[in-house]
Amino acid sequence: MEQYTHEDIPDYQMAAWLMAVCWRGMDDRETSDLTLAMARSGEQLHVCERLMPVVDKHSTGGVGDKVTLAVAPLVAACGVAVAKMTGRGLGHTGGTVDKLESISGLRTALTREEFLSILQEHGLVLAGQSAELAPADGKMYALRDVTATVESIPLIAASIMSKKLAVGASHLLLDVKVGAGAFMKTREAAHELARIMVEIGQRAGLYTEAAVTAMEQPLGRAVGNALEVAEAVAILRGEGPADVSQLCRHEAAELLVMTGAAPSHEEAERRVQEAIKSGRALAKLAEVCEAQGGDPQQIEQPERLPRAPVISMLTAPRSGYIAAIHAERVGLAAMRLGAGRFRKGDPIDHRTGLLLQAKVGDYLQAGDPLVEIHARSEEECAVLRQELLACYRWSENPVQSGPLIYEILTPSQKGAS
Ligand code: URA
Repeated sequence: MEQYTHEDIPDYQMAAWLMAVCWRGMDDRETSDLTLAMARSGEQLHVCERLMPVVDKHSTGGVGDKVTLAVAPLVAACGVAVAKMTGRGLGHTGGTVDKLESISGLRTALTREEFLSILQEHGLVLAGQSAELAPADGKMYALRDVTATVESIPLIAASIMSKKLAVGASHLLLDVKVGAGAFMKTREAAHELARIMVEIGQRAGLYTEAAVTAMEQPLGRAVGNALEVAEAVAILRGEGPADVSQLCRHEAAELLVMTGAAPSHEEAERRVQEAIKSGRALAKLAEVCEAQGGDPQQIEQPERLPRAPVISMLTAPRSGYIAAIHAERVGLAAMRLGAGRFRKGDPIDHRTGLLLQAKVGDYLQAGDPLVEIHARSEEECAVLRQELLACYRWSENPVQSGPLIYEILTPSQKGAS
């Protein structure tokens, strides 16, 4: 790996090897060895040498996925430190760094010293992925992208886990999303990815659990950067949409149990609720924003977040129950409004996005509010209307939305469903 990082092994040899892995797969031992080599290819932060325990959380990405923005301050407000390095969005899924950068002045490009000192002082840090961290992954990912080898589950697992191992938390919770809006389209593939990552964590001494969670319809109601920050604030106030609020509380509680900070899931949920009710969780988010140069008033009063110039309501074209909202298509629609990028490096507009007014299972009358569109112009709004209507399936009969959490894999029960 060192030879590859230092260009002694050329890309064409690595490309051939990646393709071989794609076809032949790797066993758990090989995947773990690769991951460790990638993790050691650059800087390692060893955060748990500074604080113990210190947790990390990672989502494989989805539409409307603002869970990290709420879970991290919830856990920190309950007394467990959270060190989070996070990526930018590409394609229909958003990235936590882009969401954070909706907050005026907030810096996510932190030096190693800043990252560690903010973590030590505030028990929470939310930074962008450092290029020095697992540089072999950066090179390999770029190569996978152009050689059609992104899909390989062992390569995905090694890519994600190498960056987590390089940060060096003591505990990690992975949220592996599955469904129309996720990278993993089947429960089997999501389970396998989750299983391998838990196994890698165990072999490397990083206690890892993985939740496999639903990403058929967007999570919560907001899709788009500033809109999702505002929704994370609502979750921290106990006023967020039911689905995403439940997932955030569950993941935060799971992290408290994993680290031994709470004796049971029930007790952990009680503490999480208390952090919400007392305002401590919201205050923690405002505190860390300020520590990273951001405007804490935009957290305390999210109406101060940047707002799109055109806000327009799309109404229901018919009466009926909402049977499905296609997450990927909603994500693509938000991208067209400027909320996401088509290509790496594209600029984004933090103000734009969508606010779903109803979710799967809700009954609407024709003409009821369906989606609030936050756009740069009337034209962009108008162009999107048909595309948004095509995201919806309707039913005459009542519809139940499916479970949000399919399974949680722990080191002792990696195979259990
Ligand atoms: N996310 C990563 O970090 N790496 C992959 O290979 C896929 C998703």
